[in-house]
This record gives sequence, C-alpha cells and structure tokens, in this order.
Amino acid sequence: MSRVMIIGAGGVGRVVAYKCAQYPEVFSEFMIASRTIQRCREIAADIKEDLGYDKITTAAVDAEDIPALTNLLKEYKPVMVIHVALPYQDLTIMEACLAAGVHYLDTANYEPKEEAKFEYSHQWAYHERFKKAGLTAILGCGFDPGVTSIFTARAAKHIFDEIHYLDIVDANAGDHGKAFATNFNPEINIREITQNGKYWENGEWVEIPPFSIRKDLNYPDVGPKASYVLYHEELESLVKHFPTIKRARFWMTFGDEYLTHLRVIQNIGMAGIEPVMHKGVEIIPLEFLKTVLPDPGELGENYVGQTSIGCRIRGIKDGKPETYYIWNNCHHAQAFKETRAQGVSYTTGVPAMTGAMMLLKGEWTGAGVFNVEQFNPDPFLKVLGKHGLEWKEEIGADLEL
Ligand code: NDP
Repeated sequence: MSRVMIIGAGGVGRVVAYKCAQYPEVFSEFMIASRTIQRCREIAADIKEDLGYDKITTAAVDAEDIPALTNLLKEYKPVMVIHVALPYQDLTIMEACLAAGVHYLDTANYEPKEEAKFEYSHQWAYHERFKKAGLTAILGCGFDPGVTSIFTARAAKHIFDEIHYLDIVDANAGDHGKAFATNFNPEINIREITQNGKYWENGEWVEIPPFSIRKDLNYPDVGPKASYVLYHEELESLVKHFPTIKRARFWMTFGDEYLTHLRVIQNIGMAGIEPVMHKGVEIIPLEFLKTVLPDPGELGENYVGQTSIGCRIRGIKDGKPETYYIWNNCHHAQAFKETRAQGVSYTTGVPAMTGAMMLLKGEWTGAGVFNVEQFNPDPFLKVLGKHGLEWKEEIGADLEL
C-alpha cells in the first residue's frame, strides 16, 4: 500500500495513471502533478468513470522549479516519483527527490534543451548522492529504453553465456489517418531522429548520417517493413553493462511518406532548436511546430494496426553459436479501448508502472542510480503480460541480421 506521484499528464502519464489505478493493492493512492492541471483532472475524471478509482489527487507544478516541486513532495509524501513529463526535467526532478527523500523512476534520459544530446552521464553522476541518501533512481523504464533493456538482461541471464550481437528492432505498423504526426512528444521525437545515427562496434561508436542504413526486416504478425539504423539511448548503458557485446544497433521503421515530411520540415528550417525572431517575439521553430502538429495524445481514437518491438541477439551458449528473438506486439486499438491512449503511450506507460511496482514490492532494491538491465529481469517479465504487454521468445530464430 503505497502513495506515489506521477509527474506529467501527456499520453504516457495517462497510461501510467490508468495502470496504477488497476492495482490499488499496490498503488493505494496517487497524485498526478503536471504543468497544466486541467490535463491531470481530465485523466482523473476518465479513470473515475472507467474504473471507479477515486484516490487521485491533482496538482499544478513546474517540474523545473526545484523548491516548488520539493515542497509538493514534502506535502504529499509519496514513496516514489514516476517521472513521465519530458527529458528536460530529469535532473530537476532528481534534485527534488533527493531533497524530499523520495525514490525516482523515469523513461527517457536527460536532454539539455539547447542541444539534442542523448547520454546518461548527467544522470549517472547522481549515483553517489542517491546511494548516500539510501534512495533508488531507476532510469529508462519505458519500452525502449526499458523493456528492450530487460529483454537483453533476460537473454544474458538465461539464454547466452556471452551476448555478441544485439539488434533492437522497433516497428510501428500503425495508421492514425493523419498525413504527418509523431507518436510521442513531437519536439523530443524529431530531435531524436534527425541527429546522426550511431551504433556500437568493436569497442567504439560508429557515426553515420541519418537514415543512411536501411534494411527491410520482417516483424511478427506485421511483415516486412523498411527499417533504419538510428541512435537510441539504451545502447549506451547496454554496452556498458554487457561488455561482451561486439556490436549493438537500434532499428526503427519509417514509411516513405513520413520521411518525405521530415525532409521538408528540416529543409525549411522547422526542425531548428535555435531561437529566431518572429514579429518581435523570440520563438524556437521546433517548439512552434509542436504547437501545430497533432497532439500525440489525441491520435488514439482512429489508430489501427500494431507495434512490434524486440531484441534480436546472437551469442554463444555452451561454446556453440546461438540466436534469440524476444518481442512484444501491441495493438493501438486495444490500448485505446483500455486507457483512451494509443499504443506508443501504452507500451511506455505499462513498463513505467511495472518498474514502480518492482520497487514498491521490494523486487528491485539498491541505493543509487541504476539502468533497468541492472535489476533482476525475472519478476518484471513475469507480470508484464498480465499488465497488458505479452511477450514471446524464440531460441534459434532466423534473425535476418
Ligand atoms: P507529452 O508531451 O504528451 O506529455 C508531457 C507532459 O509533461 C505534459 O503533460 C506536459 O505538460 C508535462 N510537462 C512538460 N514540461 C513540464 C514541466 N516543466 N513541469 C511539469 N510538467 C511538464 O509526452 P508523452 O506523454 O508522449 O511522453 C512522456 C515521456 O515519455 C517523455 O519523456 C518521452 O521522452 C518518454 N517516452 C519514452 C518512451 C520509451 O519507450 N522509453 C517512448 C515514448 C515516450 P503540458 O500538458 O502543460 O504540456
């Protein structure tokens, strides 16, 4: 029976709140705190209507204001924060958690606003302070990073003696009927995919121009999809924690229509993160673009099709080569029916709630800052299917890669 605080009331925050409300024996009550209180109240009202759960408090907070957030934490006294606002707020929320003596969990690594740079160094630097305070910080507990990292931990623990080649493959074979929209926060999403691609090979990072490595990969129940190598943050922690990995890549599917829109957006300067003057007001083009693009939280209603995300791994078992594929498929329509949010928010929110449950139930313990693959994958994967994300695995799979 624990009290938690969810920070952020977007698509992911909505799913986390729905899933916490489904397990009142663990999440006896919780607060949704975010920048715009109206969005918190909408989620609380939907949950009351759909599930009859009425133990939700709401609050407005700027998570970049450390004293304000610390006060709110000291007032509400949660055991932990589930941070599903934006990556810009990771460090200020970690500071407030330290000041208030509260455990921390997030789904995306810290990113400075002025530079699209994805690395764990900023957050790993907090390890000693969390350790000294006897608090746990769980980093990257969404789907990717998150479940993909826990899938890799399962492979290392149960399937291989040594993992050599890791390919994380992420397909969204959904159709929301819009000409162009991103599946989560457009600003964060476009910053992520327009940077140079990068993968790990033989002990170093290999940098490549965006979308320069393409392969048509077959996804279970989806079929072939054009997939591109891009950099994704879990590669950094996975190659650190599983040092036998010789090569680690991340693949994501993109349709031609999406890439054409993205190219135009970049060519006309709308993906820029430097301020420009517009009618005497300073604006950041990418922030303005977010304002005019569809809200990812609103995509759910007509979204059909499914996501398929997993890990394709090669390595050694008992001195012989072995292959392994572990994955989850998630239907957008099912996610919407349950939470009024689309599949990408769902696949992020369910693991965040499950990770929180691991901490609250004492399955994941330790003082300090940890990536999810450092914990025992077994209790997490045991309940993930029951929580809505069933996974499958195949030993000896044809990996195509
Ligand atoms: P949204 O943009 O839909 O929601 C973000 C929420 O955070 C909004 O409610 C927003 O408030 C709130 N917020 C923004 N700034 C602040 C602030 N300073 N103080 C308080 N609240 C703030 O994003 P998503 O729900 O799609 O994504 C949430 C997180 O999940 C992101 O960090 C994203 O990177 C991560 N993610 C992780 C994935 C994974 O697999 N690991 C996959 C997808 C997403 P307002 O309503 O006022 O705008």
